[in-house]
Amino acid sequence: MADMDPFEQAQIQLARALKVQKISDALSARLRKPEREITVAIPVTMDDGTTRVFEGYRVQYSSLRGPYKGGIRYHPDADINEVRALAFWMTFKCAVAGIPMGGGKGGITVDPKTLSAGEIERLTRGFVQRLAPILGPYMDVPGPDVGTNAVVLGIIADEYSEIVGKPTPAVATGKPINEGGSEGRAAATGAGGMHTLMALLPHLTKKKPAQMTVAIQGFGNVGSFLARNLFSEGFKIIAVSDSKGGIHSEKGLNPDAVERYKKDNSTLKGFPGTKSITNEKLLELPCEIVVPAALENAITKHNAKKIRANIVLEMANGPTSTEADDILFKKGIAVVPDILANSGGVVVSTYEWEQNLKGEHWSEKDVLDKLRKLLNRESKNVWERSKKLKTDLRRAAFALALERLEKALGAKTAK
Ligand code: GLU
Repeated sequence: MADMDPFEQAQIQLARALKVQKISDALSARLRKPEREITVAIPVTMDDGTTRVFEGYRVQYSSLRGPYKGGIRYHPDADINEVRALAFWMTFKCAVAGIPMGGGKGGITVDPKTLSAGEIERLTRGFVQRLAPILGPYMDVPGPDVGTNAVVLGIIADEYSEIVGKPTPAVATGKPINEGGSEGRAAATGAGGMHTLMALLPHLTKKKPAQMTVAIQGFGNVGSFLARNLFSEGFKIIAVSDSKGGIHSEKGLNPDAVERYKKDNSTLKGFPGTKSITNEKLLELPCEIVVPAALENAITKHNAKKIRANIVLEMANGPTSTEADDILFKKGIAVVPDILANSGGVVVSTYEWEQNLKGEHWSEKDVLDKLRKLLNRESKNVWERSKKLKTDLRRAAFALALERLEKALGAKTAK
């Protein structure tokens, strides 16, 4: 896990952005601390009859632009400080995307792979029982993140609905389609990464997708959909990995075939025509685009010098430390920041919330078209801001978010 404190990293990113984007003292003071944090102990009766108590968290960072919004992470390394950093990034992500949401995040310190489906359900219901007073469609709307999926989000909405005594699907997003989920939500983060990349590509390189190779660290929901999207645009995927390690082929991989292989063998290792590669070495491969799509601090001062790609597309949250940012910048490597590149997930989560509130169900085409238009627009905005401020894409994305947060604060204090 992180070798640097993620919340400290997040605050350094903010401090750097404040050098290029002036904001009021009132906003800067508000953005230094979350509005509310909660830690809960969740007792769960395990399948063998014993009781285990798990620790869970929800950080509600900012409600300036709307209800708190952000995923729930189930991971053995999840802790309050990580969740706080992730909630901070959600605040900026929702502002960059221009969706009417604030920022929040939740987590439970648990390895979900070691729990049965029943144990995960009891854990999730227990978590919701303890958080219910601070959740709600107009208060705080959880979504999926590392280690959670549509089943978990469906349970969250169901338990909340039981507690308040009425069906309330808009309390959570990323649900199964037949429980109020949106078409396109599963594919959204990966699709969004592709749209962001395609919108910025002409500014970053003269090459066309068919001339470009890609290495992706992380072949979970985000990485696998991104791989499929990039593959269909003509990019050559030369390496992918999961938490156990990766595979590499100069000839290129077909993400659908890799996905099927992983399903059948529960590992990527041994995929025909590939060599194994570690997660560390994958990031250092000579290629055009490297994609950290797993966890924080994948690229740090220890390995940034060894990155040989021309573009880093951040699909994980907080994968690049601020020291690494400086090293990459000096090497002329463009970093497409997480708060823009991976915002497709929360954008379609917001479409799901909107559909639930209106009692509508939109087609997959409508959802994904809307997402593409939004990301084309906001990627262009971030690019133009970086030119105007003569700064990198991360500071530019933060600057745009800060301007929108300032407007929201202005509207509040004008009353
Ligand atoms: N976990 C995703 C993120 O980091 C999406 C959260 C959501 O859909 O609310 O942006």
